[in-house]
Amino acid sequence: MNYVIPQPPVASLPVIGSDARFPVRRIFCIGRNFAEHAREMGATVEKDAPMFFCKPADALVTDGADVPYPQATADLHHEVEMVVALGGGGRDLTAEQARAQVWGYGVGLDLTRRDLQAVAKAKSHPWDVAKAFDHSAPVSALVPAAAVTIGPDTVLQLDVNGARRQHATLGEMVHDVPEILCALSRLFELKAGDLVFTGTPAGVAALQRGDRFRAELAGVAVLEGRVA
Ligand code: MN
Repeated sequence: MNYVIPQPPVASLPVIGSDARFPVRRIFCIGRNFAEHAREMGATVEKDAPMFFCKPADALVTDGADVPYPQATADLHHEVEMVVALGGGGRDLTAEQARAQVWGYGVGLDLTRRDLQAVAKAKSHPWDVAKAFDHSAPVSALVPAAAVTIGPDTVLQLDVNGARRQHATLGEMVHDVPEILCALSRLFELKAGDLVFTGTPAGVAALQRGDRFRAELAGVAVLEGRVA
């Protein structure tokens, strides 16, 4: 194939225990998936109407690289989240079909320009400028689903400069992974390579230049990095 400009690189994530990488197609994110976080944002959880938004695949920050402090904000927030990587897809999936599409798990930060999000909410504008900016998706190496077990007791947590900021178990999620994938598959035809950020617990707060963060999905994945 000839292209009129150089072909953009394929976004990808490292895989624990492998030299091969996971190629990333799209990044979907669910909002308000922990009740206490919804409350801290002044929002309510709608059990029957999960809310989604997207980030571009090239917003990923991988391999422990520094996260540059973004332009156009004075209130960069962390949201620690489990990240699910899909090895297959489909439309209108059943829960069983959805479960079978999960290739692996990681942990990431849904970085948010909270000041721009507040403006977007007030004006009923889309969230893209608050959520889908460059370097807004630091993610750990992935672990194949076959190599780990996650369950309601699996801990998701974030430390910043050694102090605990966020902590919850996956059992506290309003929508579990199959429910999220089923709902997404009724809106989009899911495909291999898609990532899904599965929502953040309470405790979101600002990151400053120089902060060091450690995000953990206990027993599965760790992401350590620095805001540059
Ligand atoms: Mn989030």
